[in-house]
Amino acid sequence: MVQKVVIIGAGPSGLLLAHYLLRRGQYRVEIYERRADLRLVDASQDRTFPISLQERGRKALREIAGLDEAIAAASVFCNGTMIHRKRGRARKFPRATPILTLDRNRLVMILLQQLTQMYPVEQFSIRFSCECVQIDQKAKTVTLQPGQGEAFLLNYDRLVAADGARSQIRDILVRDAGLHCEQSDVPDAYKSVFLPRLDPALGIELEPDKIHGFNRDNQTRMLMVPQPGDRLNGVLIFDVEQNLNLSTKDEVLTFFREGFPLFGQLMSETEAEDFVKRPVGRVLTVRCDRFHEGDSILLIGDAAHAVSPSIGQGCNASLEDVSIFDRLLEQYEDDWSLALPAFTQQRVPDAHALKDLSDYSFPRTQGLKVEFFLRLALKKLLHQWFPQRVKPFVFDLLLDHNLSYSQILSLNQGWINKVKRSLR
Ligand SMILES: Cc1cc2nc3c(=O)[nH]c(=O)nc-3n(C[C@H](O)[C@H](O)[C@H](O)COP(=O)(O)OP(=O)(O)OC[C@H]3O[C@@H](n4cnc5c(N)ncnc54)[C@H](O)[C@@H]3O)c2cc1C
Repeated sequence: MVQKVVIIGAGPSGLLLAHYLLRRGQYRVEIYERRADLRLVDASQDRTFPISLQERGRKALREIAGLDEAIAAASVFCNGTMIHRKRGRARKFPRATPILTLDRNRLVMILLQQLTQMYPVEQFSIRFSCECVQIDQKAKTVTLQPGQGEAFLLNYDRLVAADGARSQIRDILVRDAGLHCEQSDVPDAYKSVFLPRLDPALGIELEPDKIHGFNRDNQTRMLMVPQPGDRLNGVLIFDVEQNLNLSTKDEVLTFFREGFPLFGQLMSETEAEDFVKRPVGRVLTVRCDRFHEGDSILLIGDAAHAVSPSIGQGCNASLEDVSIFDRLLEQYEDDWSLALPAFTQQRVPDAHALKDLSDYSFPRTQGLKVEFFLRLALKKLLHQWFPQRVKPFVFDLLLDHNLSYSQILSLNQGWINKVKRSLR
């Protein structure tokens, strides 16, 4: 019998899960998304940011025919990072393996386009500007509130919370079903920035295959990533307590031209006006004790385990969730009453390990920063000489998609504990 799966949230995890479920042939999928249809809105007003995808995430995309190719075609492969400075030449940090980078909203659009091209509306539908506000687990219904008009009830056989770090469904399960979940706000806030990569009149041509960073001080930095069409998309990251006083176009232009001269020169008046109107993004980290409820509710992606973007793993882990859940459906012949607890059992330890790796891989104190770079260089060298005996340091290990996050953590537990202790 065909089961109806209602997915709340059309982010990377919800959309990729729809692909996997539809491929299994025994599900009808309906997605409800709070935001407007990205294919129709002006992206310059929207909150987005560049995402780096490594083999861990790409492997999950590759299982759906054509998806990884479509995403790779819309991405830029960066073979290093350039840290620009007010004075002096930029510092180059090359990468042995180029990394795929693309805008979060572009990733979402490709996942969606492929779904709508592959499946008829009888099998797959999506409704935008429609927010999940309540669930009734006994009656198996969700209450959805469209942007305009009356709220309505919808029944489901299975419900998926793919509604991101601030998941409404997770909050309801915490309140009503005894789900245990710790949440904490990261002090960093961010705002999207869109710039040209070149300005021949000013003689500026930023390398097309590098991530471009600029640290104004310990609290304020920019990360810009090349996009197809000679554009740079990125973010200004700042401490949320800091009042940047950026409420007019002129204030924005002065702020970027003084604090980030290279990027400031590339900023047009229109971009400065748009920047004022864009919302500030906050990052919430989430640590739950299970990723399911009963035999019909699944939490996936950031809704289950949001982490800080410091090591660029949140999306990779969210996509990996999907292929792991699919494997469990296969193993238990689509019996969700078995696949759901098995998902919790397999994935919760990895999610907790990922949170520790994201929170504590980067040192904050000066002394540990020096030790960090020494360890990085030494482990790299020793690994080249004795590949069987010495594993690379944490960042290089994250690239090894055959290792789970729990394994990566246990190989670096000493370092992680040291950073943790330095913050007490
Ligand atoms: C600045 C920044 C940089 C990052 N860089 C990287 C990186 O380089 N690499 C990496 O792997 N990860 C990165 N991440 C993390 C990555 O963006 C997330 O892990 C990923 O987007 C999670 O996907 P998701 O589908 O689970 O959630 P989301 O992308 O958050 O999508 C959830 C969707 O649910 C919708 N929604 C929410 N509530 C409701 C509701 N009640 N009803 C209906 N819809 C709802 C939202 O509108 C949203 O579209 C970064 C994050 C940030 C903030």
